[in-house]
Amino acid sequence: MKMDQDADPQLRIGFIGAGNMAFGIAKGMLSGNVLPINIKVSAPSSTNQGRFQELGISVTHSNTEVVSGSDLVFVAVKPHLVPLVLSEVSPHVQQKQIIVSVAAGVTLAVLEELLPENSIVIRLMPNLPCVVQEGALLFARGANAKQEDGAVLRSLLRCCGLVVEGPEAWIDIHTGMSGSGVAFVYLFAEALAEGAVKMGMPSALAHSIASQTVLGAGRLLRDSGKHPAQLRSEVCTPGGTTIYGLHTLEQGGVRASVMSAVESATEKARELG
Ligand code: NAD
Repeated sequence: MKMDQDADPQLRIGFIGAGNMAFGIAKGMLSGNVLPINIKVSAPSSTNQGRFQELGISVTHSNTEVVSGSDLVFVAVKPHLVPLVLSEVSPHVQQKQIIVSVAAGVTLAVLEELLPENSIVIRLMPNLPCVVQEGALLFARGANAKQEDGAVLRSLLRCCGLVVEGPEAWIDIHTGMSGSGVAFVYLFAEALAEGAVKMGMPSALAHSIASQTVLGAGRLLRDSGKHPAQLRSEVCTPGGTTIYGLHTLEQGGVRASVMSAVESATEKARELG
C-alpha cells in the first residue's frame, strides 16, 4: 500500500546550512519528483556549496533570501548556531511557511520561542544514509503544525528512506539509536573486517565483504519483517560455527554494550536540549 503522496513539484524548498545533512536530504529528495530548480541552499562560505551546484541546486550566502523564497525551510546548521540563525531570519518568516529543524537537541519549544508566534515548526531527526535513500527519519510536529504539514514533509522525504512521525520525546531516542547508531554499525563492520585480517584475509577484500555483510543482513532483516532473534537462530546450525562466534560475542558483553551505547547517546542528546 502506498502511504505517501508524491511531493508537490511546485513547492519551493530552502536549506539554511550546506553541510552533510542538508546534502543528504537534498540528494534523497532529488531522487523523488523534487526538481533542483525549486531548491535553494545558503551557507556563509562557498566551501560546501559546489556539490549542491553539481546537482543543479542554486546557492547563496544569504539566509534571508532562502527564507523569503521558500515554502518549506530546513534549518540544517549545528545546534549551537540555531538561535543565531533563527533570530536573523525570524522577521522574514511568514505564517504559511513550514520550518523544519534537523538540529540535534534543539526542542520544539525553543524553536517556537525563536520564531514568530504561531509559526509552523517541525523537528526532524534524519540520519546520514539519506544520501543513498536508505535513511531512517523521525519527525515531531510543533503546536501549530497540522497533520497536512506533516504530510507535505513526508511527501518530500519519501525517497530519503523510512519516514515516521512520533512524539517529541522519541526524537532523542532516535538520535541515540539511529543518528549515532550508523557509527555503531560502522564500528561493527570495521571489527568484522579486522577479525578477517587477523585470520589472514587481505584488508581491502575483508572491508568489502564486511560492508556487503552488513548491507545484506540489514536488507534481509528489513525486507523479511522477521525479528532479529529469529533470523539469528536460522543461521545457527547446532554445534556450528555461528553459535561458537555468538557465544564469544555474548561473553564480550556486546549486547549490553550496544544497549548502553544507545542509552548514553540518547542521554547526551537530551543534555543538548
Ligand atoms: P555540517 O558541519 O556538515 O554543516 C553545517 C553547515 O552549516 C555548513 O555548511 C556551514 O557552512 C553552515 N553554517 C554555519 N554557520 C551558518 C550560518 N550562520 N548560516 C547558514 N549556514 C551556516 O553539519 P551537519 O552534520 O550537516 O549537521 C547539521 C545539523 O544536522 C546539526 O544540527 C546536526 O545536529 C543535525 N544532524 C546531523 C546528523 C548527521 O549524521 N550529520 C544526523 C542528524 C542530525
